[in-house]
Amino acid sequence: MTGRKLQERRLRVWSQNPCCAHCGKLCAFPEGFELDHKVALLHGGADTDENCQVLCSGPDGCHVKKTCRDLAC
Ligand SMILES: [Zn+2]
Repeated sequence: MTGRKLQERRLRVWSQNPCCAHCGKLCAFPEGFELDHKVALLHGGADTDENCQVLCSGPDGCHVKKTCRDLAC
C-alpha cells in the first residue's frame, strides 16, 4: 500500500494513539514514527487499521527493532 491511502491510514492510526506502542514515547507526525503491523503480514496478519500501531522511528527506534524481530534477523 502506498501514497494517499497509506498517508490517510497513518493519520488515522496516529490520531487514535500518537504514542509508540512499544516504549510509550509521544511521536511527531509525520516523521517521528512508522506504521507497524501488530501481526506482521508475513505471519498472516491482516492489512487493516486495527492491525496497525505507531512505533517510533529512527536508527534506534522501536520500529527498527520490531522489524528485525519479525524477520528473525
Ligand atoms: Zn518506541
